[in-house]
Amino acid sequence: NTFQDLGLQDNLLQATNDLGFSKPSEVQDKAIPILLQEETDLVALAQTGTGKTAAFGFPMLQKINVDSRTTQGLILSPTRELCLQITNELKLYGKYCKGLNVVAIYGGASITEQAKDVKRGAQIIVATPGRMKDMISRRLVDISKIEYAVLDEADEMLNMGFKEDITSILSHTPKDKNTWLFSATMPQEVAAIAKHFMYNPQEITV
Ligand code: AMP
Repeated sequence: NTFQDLGLQDNLLQATNDLGFSKPSEVQDKAIPILLQEETDLVALAQTGTGKTAAFGFPMLQKINVDSRTTQGLILSPTRELCLQITNELKLYGKYCKGLNVVAIYGGASITEQAKDVKRGAQIIVATPGRMKDMISRRLVDISKIEYAVLDEADEMLNMGFKEDITSILSHTPKDKNTWLFSATMPQEVAAIAKHFMYNPQEITV
């Protein structure tokens, strides 16, 4: 398969070209067509390094409306480093998405600056759970209209004790959004989150 076979639009294909991605990785091959063609929840068992950021990133970039400044996609990840890494990757993947604004939200940095970035209009927010919850409770961010939520490295987030934060954050999102959960392992706690927050998810394993 090529990225074109998976259904990616031209401006995203151009980015894969620039990045030298010659063909989709296995998780991309499995996830991208599902996420592009269906409005569905997804549980993906995939390790880091498999190209999972692009597996959820490209479909999200293709589906959001960059002409709107509304926050449409939320990605939760366990650490500041991962949060910044995902943000950088999405900016590369979306380099030809004119008007795209991806904002990173994480602890240990100025909340005022992050709030300013959000206020300029971020279609996609990539966040760590603690800071995200904090910004929601201070009304510095509005995720009431998101269409896509990604729980990245869900097992790690639960290991780090973010279950309550995740639950609280998701309670501020619309019921009819799609949730895409990525995890390297599927312990009981992750399965419970999937059962509680997702509706009839498609499942893929790599
Ligand atoms: P990830 O698992 O998302 O952290 O991705 C691991 C690394 O693989 C990142 O540096 C990506 O830029 C790179 N990558 C993702 N997809 C592809 C691909 N289809 N071909 C080559 N490299 C890729």
